[in-house]
Amino acid sequence: MSNIVLQLSMEEQNKVRSYYASSTIQRNAPGVIFAAKLPDTAITLYKSGKVMFQGSGATREASRWGEVKSPSTQSTITTNSNKTVKTKGDILPENFATMSVLGSDETGTGDYFGPVTVAAVYVPKEKIDLIYELGVKDSKMLNDQIMLKIAPDIMAVCPYSILTLRNDRYNAIQAKGYSQGKIKAMLHNQALKHVLTKIEPEKPEYILIDQFAERNIYYNHIKSEKEIVRENVLFSTKAEQLHVSVAAASILARYAFLKEMDRLSKSVGMNLQKGASGKVDDMAARIWIKHGEETLKSISKWHFANTEKARRLVNKKK
Ligand code: MN
Repeated sequence: MSNIVLQLSMEEQNKVRSYYASSTIQRNAPGVIFAAKLPDTAITLYKSGKVMFQGSGATREASRWGEVKSPSTQSTITTNSNKTVKTKGDILPENFATMSVLGSDETGTGDYFGPVTVAAVYVPKEKIDLIYELGVKDSKMLNDQIMLKIAPDIMAVCPYSILTLRNDRYNAIQAKGYSQGKIKAMLHNQALKHVLTKIEPEKPEYILIDQFAERNIYYNHIKSEKEIVRENVLFSTKAEQLHVSVAAASILARYAFLKEMDRLSKSVGMNLQKGASGKVDDMAARIWIKHGEETLKSISKWHFANTEKARRLVNKKK
């Protein structure tokens, strides 16, 4: 049983429809715009432009429409304008995209304002189709508005954990000497642990962490934690393209980040700028003048270079 997903242009989608027109079947699932069934392959085309090939003929059929790597190295290949996904990290088992996987991802680490958030989501194999149909895909292809809409659907369907590390706590542990890598590793481990506890006695076939550190560095960061999640853990970069559980986790992490940014924005009466650009320095200086240093500290990652840049801007205005 093989399962391959390709991302197709509008033109290619039309070609797929006419190519399989004589094998069309009716499928009323939300998000599905076309479905066909061959003796050994099911073809499902989604509104998002993703087409899924399932069955023993999946590789043969998928390779008519995009480049399919040999299944021994990777199970899902997204060809977005004919690009194959190049990842670093573990080589995933065959048909990984069709397995029951607990995935995790984080966000907010590069933003001066706002928290670091980590989410873990368990997608059992029988829910993979449904998660695609909800519109879950690589979050780099989705905007914030869409993610805010999809997130509650994911939470209603799958066991998950979301951790929001607020700025006061972040600044306190950062000042104790914790690196961002260590902070992230601890949060991922905790989120994974929470979901594993929720789904007990069921166990995921694999856990996939969107890789931010090599395996040995990750485990070195969390070596003094009480419980360390180790069983069946895989690491890969671009993991949100390799299993939909990581794509879903990425959306929930973003959702939590946006919610907290919203709360902080209201508390200072400014729409807080994301990222860490010069615009952020200007805004930080304005907050410093209007609300004082402590307030700015309570909504920012204080050790970022933006703090010193804002300090200089404030001093100039004095
Ligand atoms: Mn990531």
